[in-house]
Amino acid sequence: MLKMKSNAEWTAFLDDYPEMALKPSRDDSIIFKGSFKFSAQSKGGPHITDSYDLKIEFPFSFPKELPKVWELNNKIPEGDSFHVNPDKTLCLGSPIRLLHKVNKSPTMTGFAENCLVPFLYAVSRKLKDGGDFYMGELEHGEPGIIDDYKDIFSLNDKDQVRRLLNLLRLKKRIANKRECPCNCGKRLGKCKLRFKVNNTRKMASRSWFQKHSSQPGSAI
Ligand SMILES: [Zn+2]
Repeated sequence: MLKMKSNAEWTAFLDDYPEMALKPSRDDSIIFKGSFKFSAQSKGGPHITDSYDLKIEFPFSFPKELPKVWELNNKIPEGDSFHVNPDKTLCLGSPIRLLHKVNKSPTMTGFAENCLVPFLYAVSRKLKDGGDFYMGELEHGEPGIIDDYKDIFSLNDKDQVRRLLNLLRLKKRIANKRECPCNCGKRLGKCKLRFKVNNTRKMASRSWFQKHSSQPGSAI
């Protein structure tokens, strides 16, 4: 049943990105390789049509775990200014932000359209015109991730974000009894922050949150 569902899903992905091909994988992940073509336009920005040679690896547990993407032709310069991770994967955004985006449209095509195309659009635009990433730049690595989580959860500082990440690794029932990280002085279960926290917790496994909270800056 699960396999059938994913068959339909990767077929749909290949219909949308016909120059990519399914590649054999050593585990249960689904790997595509090939030319990823897109056309996109941001509000008031230029229309861009471009393509990148990519390898995209969807873990078996997708959408509860995030895909990894590599660019294969060195068209994207390595390093922080183009958001390429030290392991050569593309840094498409903060992990919890990506989970939220994937959750809104939890298919392979949804991931491509909502997480990958906006990133590649920003890269193409920067390669053409220089300057910063148009989408508003997050600092690369852990500081940028912490800043993004302050934004998502309306928190004020790094310490609050760390406490939030610790609550995400606990079961809801237990987390709700702990002190809320927003400094409201209440338990999480009594603060409106719980809605966002409990909703986010459903988007990945507990072991994912455990890994992520111990090293928020490393790619997952
Ligand atoms: Zn609170």
